[in-house]
Amino acid sequence: MLLVSKLSASYGAINAVRGVDLNVKAGSFSVLLGANGAGKSTTLRSIAGLHRPVGGSVKLGGQEISRLSLHRVVKAGLAFVPEGRMVVAPLTVEENLNLSHFSGRTEPDLLDRVYTLFPRLKERRRQVAGLMSGGEQQMLAIGRALMTRPQMLVLDEPSMGLAPAIVDLVFQSIVELHKQGQSILLVEQNAAIALSVCDYGYVMKRGQIVVEGTADALKESPEVLEAYLS
Ligand code: ATP
Repeated sequence: MLLVSKLSASYGAINAVRGVDLNVKAGSFSVLLGANGAGKSTTLRSIAGLHRPVGGSVKLGGQEISRLSLHRVVKAGLAFVPEGRMVVAPLTVEENLNLSHFSGRTEPDLLDRVYTLFPRLKERRRQVAGLMSGGEQQMLAIGRALMTRPQMLVLDEPSMGLAPAIVDLVFQSIVELHKQGQSILLVEQNAAIALSVCDYGYVMKRGQIVVEGTADALKESPEVLEAYLS
């Protein structure tokens, strides 16, 4: 489904991502782990069309997407939920959700699907997004991505800055999406939470993948994880 080969990305002289390979299969829930500065966000942003890679390829369902504009990446079937949520503060919940119309993929059942997954968003649909809690804004950011009916949902640290109870709530929704068949690639700092819900994991250090394996295998080697995540 999502095949990333030898992906490299830089900021001037800083080689933030160096030859990364990922293979997220259809229906998989995969996680990219790593310490601060390992290159996780740059990898996701390069996959999502927000950062132009200097080398390698990103294929979604066989289609090369690494040099497409953001708009075309979304049309190709990849939706990205950025770190920090980036909801449009002055717009209401429903206006934020309807922003995804630009993809040309919106269908009437999608709003219902988002509201079924996040009843809180339905309750607050006329609320201005900027006045909502961090957890609600995270739900909105995920909901907005789902409005494009993505084949692949890519999430950058959805737990960031949220209280543990809210993190559980957000992760329950992501797990529910996975149960519904959604393919997901997640970046997460909290390895314990991520490996308890994902089926496959990659660990990144200094721009490279250093370990990969099933979530069960990674969970059983905490010493390996600790060596790479600190
Ligand atoms: P974090 O968990 O802290 O977000 P990360 O694993 O997502 O870390 P990246 O944000 O991808 O890591 O950063 C990878 C490297 O690229 C780091 O050395 C970082 O300092 C550098 N970097 C990231 N963004 C920029 C930028 N806009 N300009 C210059 N260097 C950057």
